[in-house]
Amino acid sequence: MTLDAQTLIVVLLMNMATLSVAVPAIMGRQLSRAARCAQASLVLQTAGWGCLALSRDGTPWDPVLSVLSMVGLATGTAMLWESVQGWLGPRRGRRGVWMLAVAMPLGYAVSWSSYPLRVGWSNAGLALQLLLVCALLVRPTPHHGRGWRWLMAISLGALAAVSLWRGAMGAFFTEAYPSFRTPHPAMLTFGLVANLAVPLNAVGLLVAWREEAERALRQLARTDSLTGLLNRRALDDEAGALIALARRHGDPLSLLLLDIDRFKAINDRHGHAAGDRALCLLAGTLQAALRRGDLAGRWGGEEFCVLLPRTAPADAMAFDARLRATLRAQALAELGFPLDFSTGLAHLQAADTTLQPLVQRADAALYAAKDAGRGQLRAA
Ligand code: GH3
Ligand code: MG
Ligand code: MG
Repeated sequence: MTLDAQTLIVVLLMNMATLSVAVPAIMGRQLSRAARCAQASLVLQTAGWGCLALSRDGTPWDPVLSVLSMVGLATGTAMLWESVQGWLGPRRGRRGVWMLAVAMPLGYAVSWSSYPLRVGWSNAGLALQLLLVCALLVRPTPHHGRGWRWLMAISLGALAAVSLWRGAMGAFFTEAYPSFRTPHPAMLTFGLVANLAVPLNAVGLLVAWREEAERALRQLARTDSLTGLLNRRALDDEAGALIALARRHGDPLSLLLLDIDRFKAINDRHGHAAGDRALCLLAGTLQAALRRGDLAGRWGGEEFCVLLPRTAPADAMAFDARLRATLRAQALAELGFPLDFSTGLAHLQAADTTLQPLVQRADAALYAAKDAGRGQLRAA
């Protein structure tokens, strides 16, 4: 079997064109910026390879198609950087990768008359861009799967290595590699590696996209859709760790159970939508009052639960008083009617290993606060 450069390029082009259609079809609509960048990167790189496959040495169109091909490859790789960065969170290096995306095709066009220079320059630029993407991928991150990052890093790293080889051949050993279509081992290896790296890279992108969707779903399952606070299940989950930590260090821990006063009457008088706005206002005020490490969630209908680690009862009372004062002031301004709540306070005791006994005591205290006339806090 003989492999020639043109066949490898055509197969690579078919490979990329298929993925440019298949990946968006699998991902569907409603995408994050990262996923859209990944799709754009596939399309741009396919266009780049398409121009290269169409170009013919010596024809008048050759320079135009070749420069366009470099634009496609360079911007496609920059878009790949954008997508990986979108999935892994803010990282440095954007300026570098985009500067290369401009400088690579520009330098290639300017040095068109010198084959060694333009081949050396373009391959080195592309390899450098690919290595910048690899650097993003291999940085340790606790929240992202290792599999797809290493799969992509290895395939892109291999592509960078053979690009460098091809660039070095064109720049320094021009007689042995006088044209893109020379059946030199550097070109054949490049063609084979690219044909493997491109689908593997697409698999990596799909896994990253699925990981993102899973994270969004997990987040959705933990959040109360109306107020954006944690829901009861998420609060229950997180509370376990806080309680264990407080017990280990012998730290105080307070729990507040808040219940809006006469909420049914608010719904009846002002409408359900106004009731929802009142819930959101309380949630927002609560969120703004929390410190790092505090937990708050919607416990049920118009009840909210707040866990304050390293907080003695007196400080929890002060927290409640601040929250109450803020809410009273904001309710009149933002809702147009008064809003208040009653609170039951419970404090972690030696026998408490879960949230349940704390909530039970806070609930009893909350009943006492309601009985005593509402709009106040009672401690268990
Ligand atoms: P109390 O002062 O004794 O707590 O009286 P209350 O009216 O606040 O208590 P009750 O338990 O009788 O009523 C709670 C109301 O909360 C009834 C329910 O319709 C309303 N509610 C629960 N969830 C929501 C919600 O998501 N949106 C709105 N608008 N109302 C809700
Ligand atoms: Mg209630
Ligand atoms: Mg109520």
